[in-house]
Amino acid sequence: MMDLKKDMQEVLDQFAIRAKNNGGSDGIAQQLTKGAQIASNSPVDGQLIAEVATAAPTDYEAIVLRAEEAFLAWRKWPAPKRGEVIRQYGQALRDNKEMLGKLVSYEMGKSLQEGAGEVQEMIDICDFAVGLSRQLHGLTMHSERPDHRMYEQWHPLGIVGIITAFNFPVAVWSWNAMIALVAGNVTIWKPSEKTPLAAQACMHILSGVFKANQVPAGVCNLVQGTTEIGKLIAADPRIVLVSATGSTRMGMAVGQAVAGRLGKCLLELGGNNAIIVTENADLKLALTGAVFGAVGTAGQRCTTTRRLIIHESVYDQFVAELIKAYGQLQIGNPLDPQVHVGPLIDEAAVVQYEAALVAVQKEGGSILTPAGKLEGEGFESGCYVRPCIAAVQNDYMIVQQETFAPILYVMKYTTLEEAIQMQNGVPQGLSSAIMTGNLKEAEKFLSASGSDCGIANVNIGTSGAEIGGAFGGEKHTGGGRESGSDAWKAYMRRQTSTINYGDDLPLAQGIDFHLG
Ligand code: NAD
Repeated sequence: MMDLKKDMQEVLDQFAIRAKNNGGSDGIAQQLTKGAQIASNSPVDGQLIAEVATAAPTDYEAIVLRAEEAFLAWRKWPAPKRGEVIRQYGQALRDNKEMLGKLVSYEMGKSLQEGAGEVQEMIDICDFAVGLSRQLHGLTMHSERPDHRMYEQWHPLGIVGIITAFNFPVAVWSWNAMIALVAGNVTIWKPSEKTPLAAQACMHILSGVFKANQVPAGVCNLVQGTTEIGKLIAADPRIVLVSATGSTRMGMAVGQAVAGRLGKCLLELGGNNAIIVTENADLKLALTGAVFGAVGTAGQRCTTTRRLIIHESVYDQFVAELIKAYGQLQIGNPLDPQVHVGPLIDEAAVVQYEAALVAVQKEGGSILTPAGKLEGEGFESGCYVRPCIAAVQNDYMIVQQETFAPILYVMKYTTLEEAIQMQNGVPQGLSSAIMTGNLKEAEKFLSASGSDCGIANVNIGTSGAEIGGAFGGEKHTGGGRESGSDAWKAYMRRQTSTINYGDDLPLAQGIDFHLG
């Protein structure tokens, strides 16, 4: 085990994070913020890490004005030149991977490996964005009019607002920001008020790269604050696109505010993800996929496996193996490499976990493993709980909701049609999986009458996606797509242009119009 205090001090020094930070509004130009301080306490040991000044409405206004001005210059930079800046940021992240990963881990509570994994995701998306900076291309079409050429091109939108959740404090921002920036936009990031320091560190690293490349001030901004700042962003017509990641409750509020001003919205909201384990599954593989999916990040991933829909013929055997595997889980300090499960983000999350277990039992379910809050040495922060398994019915009210904690619901099915119906029978539609060696079962699951989710995997769990694919989900997950594939199109506006190089003015649809 490392000397936590000494180690974290080194990390904070590396990113110029002091006991009280004025970086609330901007990691690049050091603008004073006048809002209240928010404290960042680690869920690992309950210690105060540092305080951050939030942006007051006047700070917010100044930042938006500066971003608007920065956009006028940044949109003129050739996209590959913007890509070169992002390439350098990717390199700077490589240099800081270990330190930033540790900060993410300590501030959010995920394991060291997952903290470093998040930074790796940032690096990957930088690489992707660099390539993209030379591929922001549109189509050309044959015009129906003689001597005409028709084509489409993609232009930047302007200011992109990015609101992020606590559970991926750095990766989700970079998915959005790196693509938005190479596309020629400027960005304003409001991170979760539960993980302000990781955001501060990202901006600190970025500021060195931006300075070296003389990127105009205001291209990439940070506004620290509570939901109040999020609400300002959602309501602000100058923010052309709002990309918001968080709970469905938040997405409903942001979606309505943005729609009310006819702005663009990209929503990445809660999931309620299931794995179907068929009688043809490799049960060893299914076990690892299910346990990692359910307890990784202490059940605080949007793609966490929350439900297991198990064929009746293998149910008893598989549940017995699951219970055995849960008995081997090490719970504790996530900075210890031996530990599988760290803390929840805060004590409020523990209360929600406990309330969900009460609700399960009230509705007739049973808890199959030891469960509850952990007390005593090593658990002083009050944020540690036992991951647990509960036998339920899919239509229980509590099962229909996303509880952001390591509770795995198990249920039985008889036919595949029934299993798919159960998998789809929740309001959310993010990630889904089937474990099977049977081709017909796999194809049925992936067909139009199969999974209704944005992500559908075969012989892989629900959690952990690669940046190369478009990421997001349907229904109450919000319908947005981020990261790879052609998700970049959400950050640009499409313009169709037709050029007449002839001497006449033929009209479309053969309309004949003569003057005189
Ligand atoms: P949250 O909804 O409480 O907060 C997310 C962000 O939204 C925070 O920055 C918060 O300040 C802001 N916010 C909250 N209410 C707002 C409002 N009315 N207007 C504007 N901004 C507002 O979520 P959380 O607890 O930080 O994160 C957990 C949730 O995020 C889970 O539901 C999880 O599934 C979801 N999530 C989804 C994805 C995805 O890609 N689908 C990824 C990560 C997390």
